[in-house]
Amino acid sequence: MDNNLENQVAIVTGAGQGIGFGIARCLGRAGAQLVVADVNQERLDSATVALGEMGIDALAIACDVADQQSVNDLMAGASNAFGRIDVLVNNAGVIVVKPIDEQSESDWDRVIDINLKGTFLCAQAVLDPMAAGGGGSIINLCSMSAYGFTTPHLPYTASKAGIIGLTRDFAVEVADRQIRVNAIAPGPIETPMFDGLSQAQKDAHAAKVPLKRLGHPDDIGNTAVFLASGAAAFITGAVIPVTGGADLKYS
Ligand code: NAD
Repeated sequence: MDNNLENQVAIVTGAGQGIGFGIARCLGRAGAQLVVADVNQERLDSATVALGEMGIDALAIACDVADQQSVNDLMAGASNAFGRIDVLVNNAGVIVVKPIDEQSESDWDRVIDINLKGTFLCAQAVLDPMAAGGGGSIINLCSMSAYGFTTPHLPYTASKAGIIGLTRDFAVEVADRQIRVNAIAPGPIETPMFDGLSQAQKDAHAAKVPLKRLGHPDDIGNTAVFLASGAAAFITGAVIPVTGGADLKYS
């Protein structure tokens, strides 16, 4: 078994930039037929063009993962276009960095709705099309902040800790449909989130990582390719840290 994803149809949410774009690029390079989804149409359009320039075709479907109808439309659009769905990467996510006392009810609702409910809605909606094709692989984006304090972002941490439980329960409940459900827990990955930082600030973050660098979206994308592939055929319910060791020591 290798990491070849030819004839596999893969959906990536939040693929407009950052890690999601990196995951789409890696899945596309591995031969998957891609559906890229994002709530932000402009990002989605530029991501689709950028993938095309790399020789990777992708069907773009605008989708808000926190909205049931929008999620159903995404799955229907993918199924209608390709006739099957083999891989779903639940990558769309948001973060609100503030101390606990300043986190509002709307901050909590937004983060939980997109990160946790969105993951649930997409994973649930893909079960029937995946099972109809004989099984598949669902990959959820967690974070090392689910199991160790990084910066103050309590709703985000709660959402990512919730994704661990969701991943494990899903894995058990859908195993008899030959659907595997795993999570990737990234450490600090250089995405647009880091654009506002000076080189010195980026270097300071990198210095805290045992492997002495920030992660690249491809570090997550390559892990997604592995989890999507036959090489991971006996892996389900796992949460894989991809952190350069930062989840072990980040100080
Ligand atoms: P990002 O903000 O750069 O990109 C997120 C994408 O998701 C954006 O294109 C955005 O438009 C889209 N999105 C937001 N809300 C959406 C919605 N409701 N429906 C559909 N799409 C939506 O973020 P990133 O840094 O690339 O992070 C991607 C994932 O990785 C997130 O789940 C994040 O929590 C996780 N993660 C990131 C890091 C990191 O260091 N960057 C670390 C750990 C985990």
